[in-house]
Amino acid sequence: MTAGSSARRWLELAVTCDSEAAEPVSELFAAHGFNRGVAIEEGFTQDPDGDNFAVDPTGPVVVRTFLNAADVAPGTIDDIRQALWHLGRLRSISDLSVAERAEEDWANAWKEHYSVHRVGRRVLVKAPWHVYEPAPDEIIVELDPGMAFGTGLHPSTQLAMIAMEDEFRLGDRVLDVGTGSGVLATAAALLGASVVDGVDIEPVAVRAAQENADRNGVGSIVRIERGSVGDGEPFQGEYDLVVANIIARILIEFALGLARRVRAGGTLVLGGIIDVKESAVRDAFNEVGLTLERREEREDWVSLILRKPAS
Ligand code: SAH
Repeated sequence: MTAGSSARRWLELAVTCDSEAAEPVSELFAAHGFNRGVAIEEGFTQDPDGDNFAVDPTGPVVVRTFLNAADVAPGTIDDIRQALWHLGRLRSISDLSVAERAEEDWANAWKEHYSVHRVGRRVLVKAPWHVYEPAPDEIIVELDPGMAFGTGLHPSTQLAMIAMEDEFRLGDRVLDVGTGSGVLATAAALLGASVVDGVDIEPVAVRAAQENADRNGVGSIVRIERGSVGDGEPFQGEYDLVVANIIARILIEFALGLARRVRAGGTLVLGGIIDVKESAVRDAFNEVGLTLERREEREDWVSLILRKPAS
Protein backbone atom coordinates (compact mmCIF):
# COMPACT_ATOMS: atom_id res chain seq x y z
CA MET A 1 0.00 0.00 0.00
CA THR A 2 1.28 3.50 -0.75
CA ALA A 3 1.84 5.93 2.08
CA GLY A 4 -0.73 8.31 0.57
CA SER A 5 -2.73 10.67 2.72
CA SER A 6 -5.96 9.01 1.64
CA ALA A 7 -5.28 5.88 3.73
CA ARG A 8 -8.21 5.29 6.01
CA ARG A 9 -7.62 5.50 9.70
CA TRP A 10 -9.44 3.41 12.24
CA LEU A 11 -10.14 4.11 15.85
CA GLU A 12 -9.96 1.13 18.11
CA LEU A 13 -11.61 1.38 21.52
CA ALA A 14 -11.16 -1.20 24.22
CA VAL A 15 -12.23 -1.59 27.81
CA THR A 16 -11.53 -4.40 30.24
CA CYS A 17 -14.40 -5.09 32.57
CA ASP A 18 -16.15 -7.81 34.53
CA SER A 19 -18.34 -10.02 32.39
CA GLU A 20 -21.55 -8.48 33.70
CA ALA A 21 -20.48 -5.08 32.45
CA ALA A 22 -19.76 -6.32 28.92
CA GLU A 23 -23.30 -5.83 27.70
CA PRO A 24 -23.76 -2.25 28.96
CA VAL A 25 -20.29 -1.30 27.70
CA SER A 26 -20.95 -2.67 24.22
CA GLU A 27 -24.34 -0.96 24.18
CA LEU A 28 -22.61 2.26 25.12
CA PHE A 29 -20.13 1.88 22.25
CA ALA A 30 -22.98 1.12 19.86
CA ALA A 31 -25.00 4.11 21.06
CA HIS A 32 -22.07 6.34 20.10
CA GLY A 33 -21.90 5.02 16.57
CA PHE A 34 -19.51 2.13 17.15
CA ASN A 35 -22.14 -0.27 15.93
CA ARG A 36 -20.41 -2.03 13.06
CA GLY A 37 -19.18 -4.81 15.25
CA VAL A 38 -18.28 -5.04 18.89
CA ALA A 39 -16.17 -7.95 20.03
CA ILE A 40 -16.50 -9.26 23.53
CA GLU A 41 -13.35 -11.23 24.19
CA GLU A 42 -13.81 -13.62 27.01
CA GLY A 43 -11.03 -14.15 29.46
CA PHE A 44 -8.84 -17.14 28.86
CA THR A 45 -6.83 -19.33 31.09
CA GLN A 46 -3.66 -20.52 29.49
CA ASP A 47 -1.86 -23.66 30.47
CA PRO A 48 1.68 -22.94 31.62
CA ASP A 49 3.56 -24.80 28.91
CA GLY A 50 1.61 -24.12 25.82
CA ASP A 51 -0.74 -22.31 23.65
CA ASN A 52 -3.78 -23.99 25.09
CA PHE A 53 -6.60 -21.68 26.00
CA ALA A 54 -9.91 -22.20 27.70
CA VAL A 55 -12.59 -19.64 28.45
CA ASP A 56 -12.54 -18.42 31.99
CA PRO A 57 -16.22 -17.58 32.63
CA THR A 58 -15.47 -15.71 35.84
CA GLY A 59 -12.59 -13.65 34.54
CA PRO A 60 -12.60 -10.18 33.07
CA VAL A 61 -13.52 -9.64 29.43
CA VAL A 62 -12.31 -7.13 26.89
CA VAL A 63 -14.92 -5.24 24.92
CA ARG A 64 -13.36 -3.99 21.71
CA THR A 65 -14.71 -2.08 18.76
CA PHE A 66 -13.39 -0.32 15.68
CA LEU A 67 -14.72 2.51 13.56
CA ASN A 68 -13.53 4.53 10.61
CA ALA A 69 -12.00 7.60 12.31
CA ALA A 70 -13.76 9.89 9.83
CA ASP A 71 -17.13 8.70 11.16
CA VAL A 72 -16.38 9.61 14.77
CA ALA A 73 -18.03 12.89 15.72
CA PRO A 74 -16.00 15.38 17.78
CA GLY A 75 -16.52 14.91 21.48
CA THR A 76 -17.61 11.30 21.12
CA ILE A 77 -14.60 9.85 22.92
CA ASP A 78 -15.03 12.26 25.83
CA ASP A 79 -18.72 11.36 26.04
CA ILE A 80 -17.87 7.65 26.09
CA ARG A 81 -15.23 8.21 28.77
CA GLN A 82 -17.73 10.05 30.92
CA ALA A 83 -20.40 7.38 30.52
CA LEU A 84 -17.84 4.68 31.34
CA TRP A 85 -16.90 6.55 34.47
CA HIS A 86 -20.54 6.43 35.57
CA LEU A 87 -20.81 2.73 34.74
CA GLY A 88 -17.55 2.21 36.62
CA ARG A 89 -19.20 3.37 39.85
CA LEU A 90 -21.26 0.18 39.77
CA ARG A 91 -18.93 -2.27 38.09
CA SER A 92 -15.29 -2.93 37.62
CA ILE A 93 -14.30 -1.19 34.40
CA SER A 94 -10.83 -0.17 33.19
CA ASP A 95 -9.95 3.14 31.61
CA LEU A 96 -10.87 3.41 27.96
CA SER A 97 -7.99 2.65 25.67
CA VAL A 98 -8.07 4.46 22.35
CA ALA A 99 -5.69 3.61 19.53
CA GLU A 100 -5.56 5.01 16.06
CA ARG A 101 -4.61 2.57 13.36
CA ALA A 102 -3.76 2.99 9.74
CA GLU A 103 -5.53 0.71 7.33
CA GLU A 104 -2.35 -1.30 6.78
CA ASP A 105 -2.44 -2.25 10.44
CA TRP A 106 -6.02 -3.29 10.26
CA ALA A 107 -5.48 -6.87 9.22
CA ASN A 108 -2.75 -7.30 11.80
CA ALA A 109 -4.69 -5.62 14.57
CA TRP A 110 -7.52 -7.94 13.80
CA LYS A 111 -5.26 -10.98 13.84
CA GLU A 112 -3.75 -9.98 17.14
CA HIS A 113 -7.09 -9.70 18.88
CA TYR A 114 -9.13 -12.21 17.05
CA SER A 115 -8.77 -15.38 19.03
CA VAL A 116 -11.89 -17.17 20.21
CA HIS A 117 -15.34 -15.58 20.09
CA ARG A 118 -18.76 -16.83 20.95
CA VAL A 119 -20.90 -16.22 17.88
CA GLY A 120 -24.02 -18.24 18.54
CA ARG A 121 -25.35 -20.09 21.56
CA ARG A 122 -23.07 -23.10 21.19
CA VAL A 123 -20.97 -21.99 18.27
CA LEU A 124 -17.62 -20.30 18.83
CA VAL A 125 -15.29 -19.11 16.12
CA LYS A 126 -11.59 -19.45 16.58
CA ALA A 127 -8.53 -18.42 14.63
CA PRO A 128 -6.31 -21.22 13.30
CA TRP A 129 -3.39 -19.99 15.40
CA HIS A 130 -5.16 -20.68 18.69
CA VAL A 131 -5.56 -23.97 20.43
CA TYR A 132 -8.79 -24.14 22.34
CA GLU A 133 -10.33 -26.85 24.50
CA PRO A 134 -14.10 -26.72 23.92
CA ALA A 135 -16.66 -27.46 26.62
CA PRO A 136 -18.71 -30.59 25.83
CA ASP A 137 -21.59 -28.81 24.09
CA GLU A 138 -19.53 -26.15 22.34
CA ILE A 139 -19.02 -26.20 18.59
CA ILE A 140 -15.84 -24.66 17.31
CA VAL A 141 -15.62 -23.26 13.82
CA GLU A 142 -12.04 -22.57 12.85
CA LEU A 143 -11.87 -19.63 10.45
CA ASP A 144 -9.06 -17.70 8.90
CA PRO A 145 -10.43 -14.19 9.31
CA GLY A 146 -8.20 -12.70 6.65
CA MET A 147 -10.11 -14.28 3.84
CA ALA A 148 -13.72 -13.22 3.28
CA PHE A 149 -16.56 -11.50 5.04
CA GLY A 150 -17.85 -13.40 8.02
CA THR A 151 -15.52 -13.57 11.02
CA GLY A 152 -18.59 -13.98 13.15
CA LEU A 153 -18.02 -10.69 14.91
CA HIS A 154 -20.73 -8.81 13.11
CA PRO A 155 -24.04 -8.60 15.00
CA SER A 156 -25.97 -9.75 11.94
CA THR A 157 -23.88 -12.94 11.71
CA GLN A 158 -24.46 -13.52 15.40
CA LEU A 159 -28.21 -13.08 15.02
CA ALA A 160 -28.28 -15.42 12.02
CA MET A 161 -26.18 -18.00 13.87
CA ILE A 162 -28.41 -17.96 16.95
CA ALA A 163 -31.57 -18.24 14.85
CA MET A 164 -30.02 -21.08 12.86
CA GLU A 165 -29.05 -22.95 16.03
CA ASP A 166 -32.57 -22.49 17.42
CA GLU A 167 -34.29 -23.69 14.27
CA PHE A 168 -31.89 -26.46 13.32
CA ARG A 169 -32.90 -30.12 13.59
CA LEU A 170 -30.38 -32.93 13.35
CA GLY A 171 -30.06 -34.17 9.79
CA ASP A 172 -31.53 -31.02 8.24
CA ARG A 173 -30.71 -30.05 4.68
CA VAL A 174 -29.43 -26.47 4.83
CA LEU A 175 -28.84 -23.79 2.18
CA ASP A 176 -26.66 -20.78 3.04
CA VAL A 177 -27.18 -17.91 0.60
CA GLY A 178 -24.37 -15.32 0.66
CA THR A 179 -22.06 -17.68 2.51
CA GLY A 180 -19.04 -15.32 2.71
CA SER A 181 -16.39 -17.12 4.73
CA GLY A 182 -18.79 -20.04 5.11
CA VAL A 183 -19.13 -19.48 8.85
CA LEU A 184 -22.84 -20.37 8.92
CA ALA A 185 -22.49 -23.24 6.44
CA THR A 186 -19.62 -24.80 8.36
CA ALA A 187 -21.44 -24.37 11.67
CA ALA A 188 -24.55 -26.04 10.20
CA ALA A 189 -22.46 -29.03 9.12
CA LEU A 190 -20.80 -29.26 12.54
CA LEU A 191 -24.24 -29.10 14.19
CA GLY A 192 -25.16 -32.23 12.26
CA ALA A 193 -26.76 -31.21 8.97
CA SER A 194 -26.96 -34.00 6.40
CA VAL A 195 -26.31 -31.62 3.50
CA VAL A 196 -25.16 -28.02 3.44
CA ASP A 197 -25.13 -26.13 0.18
CA GLY A 198 -23.79 -22.60 0.03
CA VAL A 199 -23.71 -19.94 -2.65
CA ASP A 200 -21.99 -16.60 -3.05
CA ILE A 201 -21.58 -14.29 -6.01
CA GLU A 202 -17.96 -13.53 -5.06
CA PRO A 203 -15.35 -16.03 -6.22
CA VAL A 204 -13.11 -15.20 -3.25
CA ALA A 205 -15.94 -16.16 -0.90
CA VAL A 206 -16.58 -19.41 -2.76
CA ARG A 207 -12.94 -20.40 -2.33
CA ALA A 208 -12.73 -19.27 1.29
CA ALA A 209 -15.97 -20.96 2.30
CA GLN A 210 -14.96 -24.29 0.80
CA GLU A 211 -11.51 -24.06 2.39
CA ASN A 212 -13.04 -23.27 5.75
CA ALA A 213 -15.43 -26.20 5.49
CA ASP A 214 -12.50 -28.44 4.58
CA ARG A 215 -10.32 -27.21 7.43
CA ASN A 216 -13.16 -28.05 9.84
CA GLY A 217 -13.45 -31.56 8.48
CA VAL A 218 -16.89 -31.10 6.93
CA GLY A 219 -15.81 -30.61 3.33
CA SER A 220 -17.78 -33.63 2.21
CA ILE A 221 -21.05 -32.25 3.62
CA VAL A 222 -20.61 -28.64 2.53
CA ARG A 223 -20.75 -27.82 -1.19
CA ILE A 224 -20.14 -24.21 -2.19
CA GLU A 225 -20.90 -22.87 -5.64
CA ARG A 226 -20.65 -19.47 -7.19
CA GLY A 227 -24.08 -17.94 -7.74
CA SER A 228 -27.25 -17.08 -5.93
CA VAL A 229 -30.90 -18.03 -5.90
CA GLY A 230 -33.20 -17.32 -8.83
CA ASP A 231 -32.04 -17.31 -12.46
CA GLY A 232 -29.18 -19.70 -13.13
CA GLU A 233 -29.00 -20.85 -9.52
CA PRO A 234 -26.57 -23.71 -8.87
CA PHE A 235 -28.82 -25.49 -6.34
CA GLN A 236 -32.44 -26.17 -7.12
CA GLY A 237 -33.57 -28.55 -4.41
CA GLU A 238 -35.71 -27.76 -1.41
CA TYR A 239 -34.20 -27.36 2.04
CA ASP A 240 -35.44 -27.74 5.60
CA LEU A 241 -33.58 -24.59 6.55
CA VAL A 242 -32.44 -21.71 4.36
CA VAL A 243 -30.22 -19.01 5.86
CA ALA A 244 -29.46 -15.70 4.15
CA ASN A 245 -27.45 -13.05 5.93
CA ILE A 246 -27.00 -10.48 3.19
CA ILE A 247 -28.58 -7.01 3.19
CA ALA A 248 -32.19 -5.88 3.09
CA ARG A 249 -32.15 -4.66 -0.51
CA ILE A 250 -30.82 -7.98 -1.83
CA LEU A 251 -33.13 -10.02 0.38
CA ILE A 252 -36.11 -8.13 -1.02
CA GLU A 253 -34.86 -8.53 -4.58
CA PHE A 254 -34.42 -12.29 -4.12
CA ALA A 255 -37.49 -12.94 -1.94
CA LEU A 256 -39.16 -15.26 -4.41
CA GLY A 257 -35.95 -17.17 -5.18
CA LEU A 258 -35.26 -17.66 -1.48
CA ALA A 259 -38.84 -18.74 -0.74
CA ARG A 260 -38.69 -21.36 -3.50
CA ARG A 261 -35.75 -23.10 -1.90
CA VAL A 262 -37.65 -23.69 1.38
CA ARG A 263 -39.64 -26.93 1.61
CA ALA A 264 -43.28 -26.80 2.77
CA GLY A 265 -43.13 -26.49 6.55
CA GLY A 266 -39.47 -25.42 6.37
CA THR A 267 -37.77 -22.34 7.76
CA LEU A 268 -36.05 -19.29 6.35
CA VAL A 269 -33.68 -17.26 8.53
CA LEU A 270 -32.92 -13.76 7.25
CA GLY A 271 -30.12 -11.61 8.64
CA GLY A 272 -28.35 -8.43 7.64
CA ILE A 273 -31.48 -6.30 7.96
CA ILE A 274 -30.85 -2.82 9.28
CA ASP A 275 -33.76 -1.86 11.52
CA VAL A 276 -35.22 0.83 9.27
CA LYS A 277 -35.62 -1.72 6.45
CA GLU A 278 -37.35 -4.35 8.54
CA SER A 279 -40.91 -3.61 7.49
CA ALA A 280 -40.02 -3.58 3.76
CA VAL A 281 -38.37 -7.00 4.14
CA ARG A 282 -41.35 -8.34 6.07
CA ASP A 283 -43.74 -7.14 3.35
CA ALA A 284 -41.66 -8.71 0.58
CA PHE A 285 -41.59 -12.13 2.24
CA ASN A 286 -45.23 -11.96 3.22
CA GLU A 287 -45.98 -11.42 -0.45
CA VAL A 288 -44.16 -14.61 -1.44
CA GLY A 289 -46.18 -16.63 1.07
CA LEU A 290 -43.91 -16.95 4.10
CA THR A 291 -45.21 -16.38 7.61
CA LEU A 292 -43.24 -14.47 10.22
CA GLU A 293 -42.50 -16.74 13.15
CA ARG A 294 -40.47 -14.25 15.17
CA ARG A 295 -37.85 -11.52 15.01
CA GLU A 296 -34.71 -10.83 16.99
CA GLU A 297 -32.62 -7.71 17.22
CA ARG A 298 -29.15 -6.71 18.29
CA GLU A 299 -27.84 -3.17 18.04
CA ASP A 300 -29.36 -1.79 14.80
CA TRP A 301 -29.72 -5.21 13.23
CA VAL A 302 -32.74 -7.45 12.89
CA SER A 303 -33.15 -11.09 11.98
CA LEU A 304 -36.43 -12.60 10.84
CA ILE A 305 -37.43 -16.23 11.24
CA LEU A 306 -40.04 -17.17 8.66
CA ARG A 307 -41.96 -20.36 7.96
CA LYS A 308 -43.31 -21.75 4.72
CA PRO A 309 -46.79 -23.10 5.40
CA ALA A 310 -47.05 -26.88 5.24
CA SER A 311 -48.94 -27.75 2.06
N1 SAH B 1 -22.92 -15.62 5.67
C1 SAH B 1 -21.80 -14.85 6.15
C2 SAH B 1 -21.43 -13.70 5.22
C3 SAH B 1 -22.46 -12.63 5.08
S1 SAH B 1 -21.87 -11.27 4.07
C4 SAH B 1 -22.10 -14.37 7.56
O1 SAH B 1 -23.22 -14.54 7.99
O2 SAH B 1 -21.22 -13.81 8.22
C5 SAH B 1 -22.93 -11.37 2.68
C6 SAH B 1 -22.37 -12.20 1.57
O3 SAH B 1 -23.38 -12.25 0.56
C7 SAH B 1 -21.13 -11.65 0.89
O4 SAH B 1 -20.13 -12.65 0.89
C8 SAH B 1 -21.59 -11.32 -0.52
O5 SAH B 1 -20.61 -11.59 -1.52
C9 SAH B 1 -22.78 -12.21 -0.71
N2 SAH B 1 -23.82 -11.76 -1.65
C10 SAH B 1 -24.18 -10.49 -1.94
N3 SAH B 1 -25.21 -10.50 -2.81
C11 SAH B 1 -25.50 -11.79 -3.09
C12 SAH B 1 -26.45 -12.46 -3.92
N4 SAH B 1 -27.31 -11.77 -4.65
N5 SAH B 1 -26.46 -13.81 -3.92
C13 SAH B 1 -25.59 -14.50 -3.19
N6 SAH B 1 -24.66 -13.94 -2.40
C14 SAH B 1 -24.61 -12.61 -2.35
